[in-house]
Amino acid sequence: MTTMEKLSLKTLEGDVHPDWCPGCGDFGVLKSLKEAFVTLGIEPHNALVVSGIGCSSNLPGFIRTYGVHSLHGRSLPVATGAALANHALNVVAVGGDGDGFGIGIGHFIHTMRRNLNLTYIVMDNEIYGLTTGQTSPTTTEGHKTKSTPRGNVERPIQPLTLALAAGATYVARGFSAQQKQLTELISGAIAHQGFSIVDVFSPCVTFNKVNTYAWFKDRVYDLEGEAGYDNADFDAAMGKAQEWGERIPIGLLFKEERPTYEDTEPIYANGPLVDQPLGLDEQTFKSLLAETM
Ligand code: SF4
Repeated sequence: MTTMEKLSLKTLEGDVHPDWCPGCGDFGVLKSLKEAFVTLGIEPHNALVVSGIGCSSNLPGFIRTYGVHSLHGRSLPVATGAALANHALNVVAVGGDGDGFGIGIGHFIHTMRRNLNLTYIVMDNEIYGLTTGQTSPTTTEGHKTKSTPRGNVERPIQPLTLALAAGATYVARGFSAQQKQLTELISGAIAHQGFSIVDVFSPCVTFNKVNTYAWFKDRVYDLEGEAGYDNADFDAAMGKAQEWGERIPIGLLFKEERPTYEDTEPIYANGPLVDQPLGLDEQTFKSLLAETM
């Protein structure tokens, strides 16, 4: 980006066009993420998008920021490392429900309890899309998939109750077909100081014929319009996070101001580690580097 270029959605367009199926919910999430960066005035060199493996985890290739397409379930450890090395960066981890709530669930919990200043966006389609339609940790009971032809017998994970219990300080749920609200939720998540999760209903139009756009549209309701709902009330948020069935809440369930990991760790008192002197002479630095290459 040149100094004369005004930040816009076009600035953030990646060189690679998304290879998602036409109609995939992930398109809406990508657009909202770009809109959030523009709204917050975050230029490409100040943002890093990290993913794991899966259809949605291809996202860093489709946006013009720094990006890492890491290993399955490992977006949060990589994002953690980047944020600890340079906490002036806006670090956003992205991925799917299989990636984050299956193989990555241990990282999910530990990252939240630390209240690292990260944003985590999960494109939750209740199925494994990239591997062509197997049961994921959020697949509903009874759902017939390739791996459960007689219907899923396992209870699905409730990502937002887990997030609340583990200590996330910004807990939200969006729907990729409700673009304006999703952009606001993602902008709020990035602006929030602490661990933010936005779990997004992002339909897989090819392999999930149950949790379709129509299925979600019939069920979701906005917490904004819920009289008396207070997103500072932990117990109320826990109640909303468990609602599933005929009515499913979307919006900001919970927000809390709590010191972040970076606020409380004394090593950050003098600013980002990348800006601190290494304290090594050149020869030692080169030999250490050679050992790790
Ligand atoms: Fe999206 Fe599903 Fe296609 Fe993957 S398989 S790109 S999740 S619609």
